[in-house]
Formats: sequence, structure tokens, C-alpha cells
Amino acid sequence: MDGTNAPVGAALDTTTCPECGALAEVTERAVLESTDGPVEHARVQCVARHWFLLPAASLTSPSAPTPARTSLRS
Ligand SMILES: [Zn+2]
Repeated sequence: MDGTNAPVGAALDTTTCPECGALAEVTERAVLESTDGPVEHARVQCVARHWFLLPAASLTSPSAPTPARTSLRS
């Protein structure tokens, strides 16, 4: 028993590389002070070994379902 109970598939924090668009893994998160106050940043590294330190809010999720567009006009 390892004590983890994360759902399968949610253990890795992934996003897309801002440079090449490949799958990237969030390897580290840190809260950094900015002029507007503390901002959560994430260090990401993609499969092509690019790495970036980005505001966590700007991360994109490669597996996020597209928002349901209900365009029912009946
Ligand atoms: Zn990349």
C-alpha cells in the first residue's frame, strides 16, 4: 500500500509545450512573487526537452475536453 489514491490517469500533471506543442510534463510548481502579488508558476518539460517556467494559469491541458458548445436553437 503506497497511500496514493489518485485516479488513474491523473497522477501526471501534463500540459503542452509552448514552443513545439508536444506533450509536456509539469515537473515542479512554485509560488513566485510578482508585482501583482504571489503567482503560482509551473516548471514544464516537454518530450523534446524544452523546458519553461510559466504561470500556472497559462498552462494548457492536452486532454481537456473541448467545452460543450450547445447551440440548440429550436
Ligand atoms: Zn517542446
